[in-house]
Amino acid sequence: MSFEAIRGQEKAVRLIRAGLKRGRVAHAYLFSGPRGVGKRAAALALAKALNCPSAPPDACCDRCHTCRRIENGNHPDVVRIAPDGASIKIDQVRRLQREFAYAAAEADYRVVLIEQVEAMTVEAANSMLKFLEEPVTPMVAVLIAEQEDAVLPTIRSRCQRIRFAPLLPEHLEASLTREGVDPAMARIAAHVAGGLDEARRLVERDEFARLCEQVIKWSGEVLAGRGNALVSLQTEWMKGNPDRNALETVLELMLLWLRDLLNRRLGRTDQEIFTPWANELSRQSAGWTPSRLVQVMDCVIQARRQLNGPMQPQSVLEQMVLAIQEGSLHARSDRSPLSTSG
Ligand SMILES: [Zn+2]
Repeated sequence: MSFEAIRGQEKAVRLIRAGLKRGRVAHAYLFSGPRGVGKRAAALALAKALNCPSAPPDACCDRCHTCRRIENGNHPDVVRIAPDGASIKIDQVRRLQREFAYAAAEADYRVVLIEQVEAMTVEAANSMLKFLEEPVTPMVAVLIAEQEDAVLPTIRSRCQRIRFAPLLPEHLEASLTREGVDPAMARIAAHVAGGLDEARRLVERDEFARLCEQVIKWSGEVLAGRGNALVSLQTEWMKGNPDRNALETVLELMLLWLRDLLNRRLGRTDQEIFTPWANELSRQSAGWTPSRLVQVMDCVIQARRQLNGPMQPQSVLEQMVLAIQEGSLHARSDRSPLSTSG
């Protein structure tokens, strides 16, 4: 992938290319940002631009022997390090130092990509620092992290920092559709996921469409004020002990659906996400007041927050359902003309 093919990261790419153009390449970069937004692709594009014989300094042809080997991980002077188990260990850094003690096999610039720098032991980090400061051959290190703050300050301060923005849902949706994903599912996944990798993982699984159905059905049960909402939570969502990430996806889907209901209720239909369920949107939205929808969304947002805390996921969801149902009782006792009858 060339710089041009990296979507939604204009600012980051501009910064990297400006350095290349002026011949001012940093010894070490820290690329930070959410997963799946293009950090690794940008690091590879940088490695290619530094070594491609047939493109201007701030670009790569993406076709020559050099570019292709870098893309495929077969170039002897472009090395990737990722955590071995839970962390990047000092042995990995030492091995790298030994390899780089000799002249480059063929590259003008050697490039070392270090993934998940947050997971570097302090020992490995210290060893890495020494390595960054005393390079034997012209080399560039690209450190990749999700969160800049999680990287040791001593390392951070020696790098040129480049921040990668979360991708907008429109970018994700366009990428997924280009890859042949069903447009309706692409739209929903793009709004749930934080990056392309995550969005791809969602749509790859058959159960994603079923999960959408379940969320919609659940919303109907809550609307009807039946006790089923709590039962389906136990029988459907907690089945197979889902991890927190899976439950977060469920909550994100609920929020999206509720937002669609609210927009429908307010007559704003141009940005609807759940387009294949237009009839169900009409049916359900007629039974809610906007204020009640906002209240339910609040309960879901609070549950999403609690999911990252010490409480058991099952309890978080149960409390959420109870809080929503309690809200229904209040709404009904207020005798709001638009509230639902149970
Ligand atoms: Zn090339």
